[in-house]
Amino acid sequence: MTKISIDEVRERAEIDAKRNGYYLNPDPEFLSSLLEGLKQNEDRYNYPSCPCRLASGLIEFDRDIICPCDYRDADVMEFGSCYCALYVDEKVRRGDVKLGQVPERRPLEKQAKAFTAKSDKDQKIKTEINDQSVPRTETELELWYCKQCGYVAFREEAPLICPICKAKKEMFAKIKTTVSYAK
Ligand code: SF4
Repeated sequence: MTKISIDEVRERAEIDAKRNGYYLNPDPEFLSSLLEGLKQNEDRYNYPSCPCRLASGLIEFDRDIICPCDYRDADVMEFGSCYCALYVDEKVRRGDVKLGQVPERRPLEKQAKAFTAKSDKDQKIKTEINDQSVPRTETELELWYCKQCGYVAFREEAPLICPICKAKKEMFAKIKTTVSYAK
């Protein structure tokens, strides 16, 4: 499958912002890191899940956090920006209002449901792996971990800026893990 380009991700976000009377984050470096996160998620899951939230990888449980997420409009209206600060309102764009932390609006039950379903799926895979009759293959995954806030990003390069706590790239540590799965 052809992967989406970063320009396409940017264009899609720009069109959506314009259509809804919003703006993209005016900080070019921060904006690039969010767009890159969206692209990475789309490459991985085939849908652009929120770059600031950990997706389950199961679309039926991630629908509400496919960008633009179900919570964006309420957050922009109340706080001047979405949870990730990808979309902002006019006052934030002009610098009249300083961005603060936007509280997570996604209900905890939704997060719990998604990760229960994910771990059930992982458990099934693990069982299959332990079945020696099932052919297996191994792959090495790399992920980046923000030492300041714990945000985890599954991508090749560390984010330039942490979308949660705004820590710089240097604050990210790389973790390698090997996954074995049934072919
Ligand atoms: S919080 Fe912002 S970036 Fe994240 S999914 Fe919602 S609209 Fe997209």
